[in-house]
Amino acid sequence: MSAQKEIIIVGAGAAGLIAAKELSAQYKVTVLEARPQAGGRTTTHYPAPGIHIETGAEFVHGELPVTLSLLKEAGITYHPINGEMYLAENGELKQEEAWIEDWDKLLDHMSKAPESTTMQQLLDQYYPADKYATLRGHVQGYVEGYDLAPLDKVSVKYLYDEWTLEQGTNYRIDQGYSSLINYLGKGIHLIPNQTVQSIAWEPGKVLIKTQDQAYTAHQVLITVPINILQNESIQFSPALPAYTAAAKQIGWGTVIKFNLLFKQAFWKRDVGFILSDEAVPVWWTQSEDSLLLTGWLGGPKAEKTQGDLLDKALGALAKIFNVPDIADLLEQGYVHDWSAEQAIHGGYSYGMPFSEEAKSVLTTPVAGTIFFAGEALYSGDSPGTVEAALHNGREIANKIKSLP
Ligand SMILES: Cc1cc2nc3c(=O)[nH]c(=O)nc-3n(C[C@H](O)[C@H](O)[C@H](O)COP(=O)(O)OP(=O)(O)OC[C@H]3O[C@@H](n4cnc5c(N)ncnc54)[C@H](O)[C@@H]3O)c2cc1C
Repeated sequence: MSAQKEIIIVGAGAAGLIAAKELSAQYKVTVLEARPQAGGRTTTHYPAPGIHIETGAEFVHGELPVTLSLLKEAGITYHPINGEMYLAENGELKQEEAWIEDWDKLLDHMSKAPESTTMQQLLDQYYPADKYATLRGHVQGYVEGYDLAPLDKVSVKYLYDEWTLEQGTNYRIDQGYSSLINYLGKGIHLIPNQTVQSIAWEPGKVLIKTQDQAYTAHQVLITVPINILQNESIQFSPALPAYTAAAKQIGWGTVIKFNLLFKQAFWKRDVGFILSDEAVPVWWTQSEDSLLLTGWLGGPKAEKTQGDLLDKALGALAKIFNVPDIADLLEQGYVHDWSAEQAIHGGYSYGMPFSEEAKSVLTTPVAGTIFFAGEALYSGDSPGTVEAALHNGREIANKIKSLP
């Protein structure tokens, strides 16, 4: 009888953990994680009994097959999200109607654009700045905020697929995303505080070095955020130039998330989401009896923002709700600037013109020995999400299992 195959998984986010769970029956699995705990970009903070704060992922964006089936399998409860969308304009909150004028025409242009077109190129072609400042402003605000992407890098095709998708109901997990991470991580051999720095390999054998340890295995699955591969923070020997080049063809944006807990609610209880032009432009509420407001600053503006971030968030809310003494109402403020988060340094991926080809390269195993997975390597209807990470992590684990 041959000895059990050993595989090391680098990264204990959603992708790494689901892969570990899938592979555990057949392989001796060890997960190496740079941070002190598992979860990566899905990390819930529990500051006090009955209160939880999602520092990263928060929503289940629709009827997502892998996420929802795992939640059901684990017996983890979740609930649909209610609330109206408001637009903050000139010190007033107005219920939002159509967010972009000429929407159908814009989609029509997008549907006909060649695959290599960026959104900036499309706007310049059909919507010159002198005539369409408002439309361009709205598109830019949305793409930077939601997709974390600059217009001159994001692909039109990527946005078209996103904007024409019927999303359906969104959900939140009752006790936060970390309850799903805990379920996936149960029984997994995880070693925290291990930052992988180099991988020396030959077919069927890897030598992995972290800051203070060395590990050997037959195979390695790397599930780190895509920017870690773009920056070549892990050195391969022999080098993998085609994989590094492919990683650079996938967009990577950043975000700052604000969770502000107040002593009392100063917003109308039907408010769900608020869009504004303030320094922290997007805000949302939680359940009707929650005193938490969550703010979102994504994309290039998040990269450039400096100074006291909590101050900026309070300033934005003071203007949106016309409450000048808002700082007095604050119980506790939590700010997560994801560009500064250890071993992550950003938010999530977005599609550039040649990202799909790049994903095909990165999901091709290296000599049956090195594999890559993670949110950024997923192709499907839910890019940039936990669903993307789970789906891709499971898919690559199945690929590994199917090898002789
Ligand atoms: C603020 C924010 C809000 C979000 N909101 C949502 C949302 O509402 N809904 C949604 O579905 N998605 C959301 N997302 C996206 C979602 O969180 C990610 O797509 C998903 O969690 C990615 O999982 P992953 O396993 O691919 O990567 P990660 O969770 O990043 O896991 C990779 C792991 O690799 C580790 N690592 C990195 N380098 C090394 C190294 N050298 N050695 C060892 N380990 C290393 C990292 O520490 C990390 O734990 C959000 C993300 C952010 C940042």
